[in-house]
Amino acid sequence: MPISWHCGEPRLAVAANPQLLIPNPSSNPMRWSQTLIPTMKETPEGAEIPSHVLMLRAGLVGQVMAGAYTYLPLGLRALRKAEAIVREEMDAAGAVELLMPALTPIGLWERTGRVEAFGDVLIQFAVRRANRKVQMALGPTHEEVVTDLVAKHIASYRQMPITLYQIQTKFRNEERPRFGVLRTSEFLMKDAYSFDTSVEALGRSYEKMYAAYCRIFDRCGLSCLPVEAESGPIGGDVSHEFMVPAENGEDMVVHCSACGYAANLERAEVGAQGDERPNVAPEPVRKVDTPGASTIEQVSRFLGCRPQDMIKTLIYAADGRALAVLIRGDHEANEAKIRRAAGVQKLALAEPAMIEHVTGAPVGFAGPVGLRVKIPVWADRAIQFMANAVTGANQADAHLTGVNLDRDFQVAGLADVRNACDGDPCPRCSSKLAMRHSIEVGHVFKLGTKYSEALAARFLDENEQLHPIIMGCYGIGINRILASLIETSYDQNGILWPVALAPYEVILVPVNVMEPQTREVAERTHDALAAAGIDVLLDDRDQRAGVKFKDADLVGFPLRVVIGERGLKQGKLEVKWRWEEKSQMIDLDGAVEQLAAMVREERATGSRFNARKKA
Ligand code: ATP
Ligand code: MG
Repeated sequence: MPISWHCGEPRLAVAANPQLLIPNPSSNPMRWSQTLIPTMKETPEGAEIPSHVLMLRAGLVGQVMAGAYTYLPLGLRALRKAEAIVREEMDAAGAVELLMPALTPIGLWERTGRVEAFGDVLIQFAVRRANRKVQMALGPTHEEVVTDLVAKHIASYRQMPITLYQIQTKFRNEERPRFGVLRTSEFLMKDAYSFDTSVEALGRSYEKMYAAYCRIFDRCGLSCLPVEAESGPIGGDVSHEFMVPAENGEDMVVHCSACGYAANLERAEVGAQGDERPNVAPEPVRKVDTPGASTIEQVSRFLGCRPQDMIKTLIYAADGRALAVLIRGDHEANEAKIRRAAGVQKLALAEPAMIEHVTGAPVGFAGPVGLRVKIPVWADRAIQFMANAVTGANQADAHLTGVNLDRDFQVAGLADVRNACDGDPCPRCSSKLAMRHSIEVGHVFKLGTKYSEALAARFLDENEQLHPIIMGCYGIGINRILASLIETSYDQNGILWPVALAPYEVILVPVNVMEPQTREVAERTHDALAAAGIDVLLDDRDQRAGVKFKDADLVGFPLRVVIGERGLKQGKLEVKWRWEEKSQMIDLDGAVEQLAAMVREERATGSRFNARKKA
C-alpha cells in the first residue's frame, strides 16, 4: 500500500489498512511521525530507579496516578510481545486459555476467608442494582473464581488433568505502589490453575509449568533464578518464586554459587556447620543498670558490648498463648521458621500487656532468666554457641551479663529460627551463602485442596468415591517482565532490549529526510522489511541526525540502520546492534534480505543479546 512521505496525509492511508487494526505487534510497519513517542531528555520527577526513569523517558508509559499507568504505543507493543511469549509457552505446555471477569462477587471471597486475608489490598465496593446493594471485589487473583467454575463443570476423574489459564488485569490496593510498573495497583497477570486427581499428578502439572516458566524468562532475555519460597496465605506446602537479581529488587534471595541452592529470605535455611562455643571461662551473672536503654543498639552502646554478644528475647502470641524466642542480637527472627519449629498456626509479636504480664517488666527488658510466668522458650541454634551473653533482666532499666545456656536458663528447643545472612554456611554444601536483591517475576504454588474444599470442587474416582480436587496455581506479572528486563539491561544512553521484547526490531534512521535519494531508499527499505515480516520503525522526522540517534538509543531498538548520503554514494548502509560497540557497512544491494536474516537469527537464538550480558 503506497503511503506518501509527508507527515500530513498518510494517517488516512494507515487507518484504511485493515491489517493495522489487528493487534498483532509483529506486522505493524510504522513511521515515527505517525505514532506517539514522547521521549524526554530529563529525568522525570519522582522516578527513582532505572526502569521507571527509562520507561518514562523513552515514552513507553505515562503515569495517571500512583500505581496506574497508560501504556503508550511503544510500551504497549513491548507488553504485547511479552504477553505473546507467555501465551505461546502456556499453550505449548498444554494449558487452556479462558478469560474470567475482573468483577467478582464478594461471597466467593468470604467462602475462602480471603476477605480478611487480603484486608485493604482487596478493592471492594457496593453498587446499586434495582433496589439491591451488591458488594463486589476486583480480582487480585482468581483462585476463587476458577475453582467455583471447576466445581460446576468438572465432576469426574476422566476430566483431569487440566490446566486453565488467563491473561487478565488484576487489582491490588498496594500500600506503597512504587518503582513505576514494577508495583502497581492494576497490572496484567498470567494466572494458571491446575486440577489433578492425585498428589503425583499435581507434581507433573507443576513440573510442566515450572519448565514453561524457565522457557518464558529465557526467551524474554531475563536471567532468572527459581528459588524455594514460603507459600504464604495462599496455602499449600511447595512453592517456587522466579527471581531476577537486580539492585533495586524488593525481595532478598539467598544463593549458594557452589551448589546452586537458592531460596527467598523467608524460606532460606541456615547451614549448621562451623560454629562452636568459644572457649572462655563462664562468668557469674551480674545485673547492670541500663537506664532508658532497651534496644540492642542502645544497650550495646551503653555497655560497650557487640550485638553478637547479646540475646534478643522476643515475646510472641502463638495461637493466642505467650511464647519466647531467643535470637542473637545481630540476627533477625524469621516468623515462618518459628511457626514451623514451635508447631503453631498464628504468630504475632505480643501486645505490651502480654509482655508485661509474662516478664514483669515494661517492653524492651525481656530475658530468658527469671521470667515471671513459665512459658515455652525457643532458641535459635546460634544461641548455643554464645558464652557470657547480655540479656534483658525482666526488670525496667536493667540487663544481665554473664548469662549462659543450661546453667542459667533452659529452652524447649533449639532450631533454625532466624533469617540467613551474607556469609552464613549453605544448608546443602560447605560453601557460603550470598544475599542478592531480586525482583519476583513469577510464582508457582502447589495449593493442595484448600480452595477445592472451601468451594466444593470434588470429583468421583474410578470407584465412585468423592474427593476434593488437588490444585496448583501459577502467576507471572507481564508488566514486571518489562520492568525487570530494563532494570537489568540498560546503559547510560538508554534501554537495551532483546529482539524478543523490543517495541520494534529495526529502526531506520535517514540522516537527512529532505534529500531525495535518502528518502527513497528509506521508504523502500521500510516497506520491504515490513513485507518480510520484520518489525520496523522509520524515523521520518525532519530532525538533526544527532537527535534521532539519541532517541533511537534511548528507546533501545535492537538494530539501527543509518541511511546517509555518504554511504549511499558507495552503495552502503550503516548497521549497528544497540548493545554492541561497532557498526558495520552492508551493501545496499541485498540489504533487506541481509537485515531480515540478521533479525531472524537473533529472534531464534538471542545469542548476540546474551553475549552482551557476558561481556
Ligand atoms: P509481591 O510479593 O511482589 O507483592 P506477590 O507475591 O504478592 O508479589 P503473586 O500473588 O505471587 O504476587 O502474583 C504473581 C505475580 O504477579 C508476581 O510474581 C508478580 O510478577 C506479579 N505481581 C504481583 N503484584 C504485582 C503488582 N502490584 N504490580 C505488578 N506486578 C505484580
Ligand atoms: Mg508471589
